[in-house]
Amino acid sequence: MVFSDIKHMFGNIAKSLTKKTDLKSLLGDLSGILDAQDSEVFVVRGKGCEVLFANTKAEGRLYTEEGYAAKCKVSFAKHFPGLCANCPYGGVEKEKGIKVFEIEDTSKSTYSAKCNVINWIDGKPAAIFMLRDITSELELKERLFALAYIDQLTGVPNRQRLKDDFTALEEKIARDELKGVVALFDIDNFKAVNDTYGHNMGDLVLSRLAGYLENDRNFAGHLYRLGGDEFVLLYTDAPDRFNTDDDLTSHYNQLLSNVLRDYTLPNIELKCTLSIGVTIFPKHGVTLSEILRKADIAMYQAKESGRNQVVFFEARYDSAQKFKDMYINIQPVLLSTGKTFGYELIDSGEGQDEDEQTVPLREFNRTLDALGLNDIESKFHYFISYSKQLLNPAVLKNLPKDKFIVQVHLPDIDLQEDINTFVELRNNGYKLALTGFGRDTYTQDLLEIASYIKFSEGDSNLSAQKRIIALNQKIRFIAANVDSTADFQKAKETGFNLFQGYYFSQPAVGQKTKELSPLKINYFRLLKLSSTNDYMDFREISQIVSADVALSYKLLRILNSAAVGLRNVSSISNAVTYMGEESLKKWIAVLALRGIAEDKPLELVRLSLIRARFGELLAPCFRIKRNPQQVFMVGMLSLLHIALEMSKEQLLDEIPVAFDIRESLLTKTGIYSDILSFFENYEYANWEGVSMYVAENQLDSSYVNDAYITSVKWYNDLVK
Ligand code: GH3
Ligand code: MG
Repeated sequence: MVFSDIKHMFGNIAKSLTKKTDLKSLLGDLSGILDAQDSEVFVVRGKGCEVLFANTKAEGRLYTEEGYAAKCKVSFAKHFPGLCANCPYGGVEKEKGIKVFEIEDTSKSTYSAKCNVINWIDGKPAAIFMLRDITSELELKERLFALAYIDQLTGVPNRQRLKDDFTALEEKIARDELKGVVALFDIDNFKAVNDTYGHNMGDLVLSRLAGYLENDRNFAGHLYRLGGDEFVLLYTDAPDRFNTDDDLTSHYNQLLSNVLRDYTLPNIELKCTLSIGVTIFPKHGVTLSEILRKADIAMYQAKESGRNQVVFFEARYDSAQKFKDMYINIQPVLLSTGKTFGYELIDSGEGQDEDEQTVPLREFNRTLDALGLNDIESKFHYFISYSKQLLNPAVLKNLPKDKFIVQVHLPDIDLQEDINTFVELRNNGYKLALTGFGRDTYTQDLLEIASYIKFSEGDSNLSAQKRIIALNQKIRFIAANVDSTADFQKAKETGFNLFQGYYFSQPAVGQKTKELSPLKINYFRLLKLSSTNDYMDFREISQIVSADVALSYKLLRILNSAAVGLRNVSSISNAVTYMGEESLKKWIAVLALRGIAEDKPLELVRLSLIRARFGELLAPCFRIKRNPQQVFMVGMLSLLHIALEMSKEQLLDEIPVAFDIRESLLTKTGIYSDILSFFENYEYANWEGVSMYVAENQLDSSYVNDAYITSVKWYNDLVK
């Protein structure tokens, strides 16, 4: 019941009274209703502060040391210092309408308070107060805030906080009203401390480092922990503080040099110094991701130059600059059951000059990391193309033999010369996949060393493939370009074991619409609720989710995943408090999509979610900005009709999405339709189309690549 309802109720009582109703029973009813509130409600009047009414929750305050006192001055006003200032009888100003304020009682509990003048049941005015204890609510908010924004080990603000703080600065930076630096640093040789002295000692070093910086006024309030042994210091200045960028650089160089010291503990021989990479904004970028990317590059430079030093970013360190228009994607390889076997890592950087290959090597390592391919828990296999740089021991030793498969494109190599290399690779435990396997390259030697053979369109005819497959049962055969259900059927009949292509994202031929299974109805209802443009009905969402234990569990898992970045969220309402409706809407949509496509290949969900996130990240970077939330929905819904085995039209008749989203999904002329064809070009590694689109829309190609990698990483975090 809201305050205005209560006021209304008093009005009704006053009216009833004139009809000679029994006042006592009326007041009894009133108390009954007001007692059900979680607030203290009381009515006072006049300079004498007479208490005319108090509900049961408030009544206790009328019992003072001197006994029962129906006077506000000695009861409520005594418990709530400051109450009189807000009372129409005691306050200075006599405002009309409801007054809303917060007030503390003498035990330091905080109350949310409302006050108004009403006509009491005798028809004359009186003041009504309604006070609700919000102390635990505030504490919960504070706790949620701390969980979301503060790194639990060191107590310093975390990555999310850095993002939000930086977003708050972005407009000013764009208007040239602010400049500054971001210094990214990583502890040197930190792993060795963990390995030698244990994780607890490592934790201690991290806390010591944070403590030291927070106690120095040059660094206090500037520090964030990004994760692991990586931290950031963020400084902003007025644009006229330094005459030149050189002045700014030398100021911060000096300031940051003071951070260079050993952070291990006394008596420990290992040294934990810092390598620091610095970017200046807006000179090197205006978005945090671009600024951090460049700081990361500078930090890498600091590590390579011997560690324990500060390096400012310079364009010549930036390999993305040299490799403009270099894109990477990962294409799924599926088992015949639709389950994911692994991915092929495809990049557009083929044919780079030999002498430049030291640079992509670094880029390559960074990419593997970012894509989560080094994640030891991942159970997928990864096909990577053979290149000379792959044989660099620094690369190979990082690639676990059970997961990485070296893919050799036969027409690209000189068999005479290289065959020994492959035999050696195989003898060292690496698996080989051969592609471009035409009739002339079919030799027994190759069949001996191959664990996988991939046939692409036009490699050889079907009957030849059938024969090779039948004769070589130890080898697993991959069919490439399986982009329709007919292709899939044909490849299965030919005897292939693995299937690469997007057949799972195409409607089956002659498909009939199916009824939605009862299990999926809840998911579908959630999707509908979260897709509306208007205010989202949280009550209904809560009802659906909490009535289904499995659903609640799944939603909480998503909310607590690394991708969302919340921890210890225990209910929907507590998630709304922290993350806001817009964002929660997105997560409910994600949950719904996963539920709806539960019995479909996981790749369908993966593809949809990567499209969603990829598009969301790109949206603000177009020459003419796009709406990130809408692009997210377009990506997410783009394949949903396949999961539901419906037509797009049927789906969109059911789901009340915004007009622009609908048009973009149904026609080629919607305002986001171009993004959908861009996604397809990207997925099929049609790099020419990607490059053209990037140029037309004045996107930054290295940002596009980063955004894709970020989306994949985001998805991986989501399903962990
Ligand atoms: P480099 O000089 O190149 O930075 O090498 P490094 O040994 O510092 O290695 P790197 O920065 O790549 O790895 C950081 C390690 O920090 C990896 C991880 O095991 C460890 N780590 C991450 N988070 C924590 C943590 O919260 N506590 C502890 N004790 N260790 C952590
Ligand atoms: Mg380190």
